[in-house]
Amino acid sequence: MIFDKTGTLTLGKPEVVEVAAAPGRSEADVLTLAAGMEQHSEHPLAHAILERSKGMQALPAEGFTNIDGMGARARSEGEPALVGNRRLMDAERVDLAGMEATAERMAGGGRTVVHVARGGKLWGLIAIADAVRPTSAAAVAALKKRGVDVAMLTGDNRATAERIGRELGVTMVLAEVLPGQKADQVKALQAQGKKVGMVGDGINDAPALTQADVGFAIGAGTDVAMESADVVLMKSDPFDVVAAVGLSRVTLRKMHQNLWWAVGYNVVAFPFAAGVFYPLTISPEMAALAMSGSSLIVAANALLLKRANVEGLK
Ligand code: ADP
Ligand code: MG
Repeated sequence: MIFDKTGTLTLGKPEVVEVAAAPGRSEADVLTLAAGMEQHSEHPLAHAILERSKGMQALPAEGFTNIDGMGARARSEGEPALVGNRRLMDAERVDLAGMEATAERMAGGGRTVVHVARGGKLWGLIAIADAVRPTSAAAVAALKKRGVDVAMLTGDNRATAERIGRELGVTMVLAEVLPGQKADQVKALQAQGKKVGMVGDGINDAPALTQADVGFAIGAGTDVAMESADVVLMKSDPFDVVAAVGLSRVTLRKMHQNLWWAVGYNVVAFPFAAGVFYPLTISPEMAALAMSGSSLIVAANALLLKRANVEGLK
């Protein structure tokens, strides 16, 4: 079972928890530059930054463009400006102004680190935290107990992802996955012969939800995710994945039992009715009545499903 991180295992309501300015810059410089760019973005991280910089005069930014899975670029007062992760800074050869250790400390704490740069030089870092959903850890533990391997998939930085993975008991962390590669990660696991479930909420999860053997969408997620998935978790509760797996297993067990009941019953009753054991035999009227017997047994057994004890299902 693969879980998307942001918005699935976490609430998807990120908040700024720390701002660190590069030497010669102030926190206000960092926030106003970032806010100017992020007002053009729909990303949840952008919302967090705008929330924090409310009441400040954002620096105007022109020509805003998203860079998938990495951040965004724009022009600010004539200079090229960037907001995003470390990969973006490395790709654009931004001078990190000696802030690598600060960034590592923030990421090690499970924060997403947004780098803010202008004119090829880092202005500062914004640490953003996204609380995990209250039932995420329990859902992971319950799935593992049932013999289901659990993985976490995210576009976020590896250090951030590993920290959150550790907190939730997920050992298989697939981090720094670009939005277009999420479905490939599912395919790779399927190629190892595994049956893969995928739980996600975002637009960029949709191809992976379709690719998976079973796709689960978070009810509070995007419409695209819900349309691509086989199951929608109406309460947006990851623990309902455990309930769905449990219910599927008891249902399948009932189907197997009923197949045996129906086949076994007929294998025994049919020869009697056909006179194979003559003079031991069943009259045609009794045989006609008995014919319904197998249907009754199977239906009654199916109804007992209501009494099945499935964890997470009330
Ligand atoms: P996720 O799978 O975590 O939802 P995305 O693919 O949307 O991630 O983004 C991956 C990473 O790219 C983010 O963790 C962030 O570091 C960076 N990023 C993307 N968009 C922005 C943005 N508008 N502002 C800052 N950082 C961004
Ligand atoms: Mg997400």
